[in-house]
Amino acid sequence: MPLPRLVFATRNPGKVQEIAQLLDGHFQVIGLDEIGCTEDVPETAETIQGNAIQKAEYVKQHYGVDCFADDTGLEVNALGGAPGVYTARYAGPEKNADANMAKLVGALQGSGDRGAQFRTVIALTGPQGTRTFEGICPGTIAPEPSGVDGFGYDPVFVPRGRDCTFAEMDAAAKNAISHRGIAVRAMVAELRKDG
Ligand code: IMP
Repeated sequence: MPLPRLVFATRNPGKVQEIAQLLDGHFQVIGLDEIGCTEDVPETAETIQGNAIQKAEYVKQHYGVDCFADDTGLEVNALGGAPGVYTARYAGPEKNADANMAKLVGALQGSGDRGAQFRTVIALTGPQGTRTFEGICPGTIAPEPSGVDGFGYDPVFVPRGRDCTFAEMDAAAKNAISHRGIAVRAMVAELRKDG
């Protein structure tokens, strides 16, 4: 029997692959290109949850298919929870990962508190309205980048209880504890309840 299809409001093939792995063969994940959505999906809300809902509902409204969208922010204690919803654009609109990490490491120089957390919210549209699922991964910001796997801030994020960065872990080990992994598993549990 073909797997039920789930549209994921992203055109990042790395993310589709990561989520497909997390969905563990229960669903076939398809990205925006596959439903003919080639424009940028707006994400102009002021919160992580607001952005996830905005993206999922945009796709539902314009393409008539249920879908899920995620949004993630890095919340740093010493920065009062920043960059939060601005995580991708922390060092500027180019959304450059190296520049973002350099700015973050600089901002924490000399700080006694290096605590931070990644927070993901997934919004899922459906007949019962839009539901949201949250995943939080606490950790600390390393004094310098280390490791080559993953993406974004992975080389400077040390998850709690580990002595290496996300970029030094393989995908399965990261997924088992990551913010996105936790949020996706919560969504999958709900989808399986739906039948
Ligand atoms: P997005 O909402 O997934 O686009 O992520 C927003 C920002 O957080 C981007 O700068 C990403 O690179 C970063 N980010 C999201 N998830 C992760 C992760 O698992 N590791 C490192 N950086 C991440």
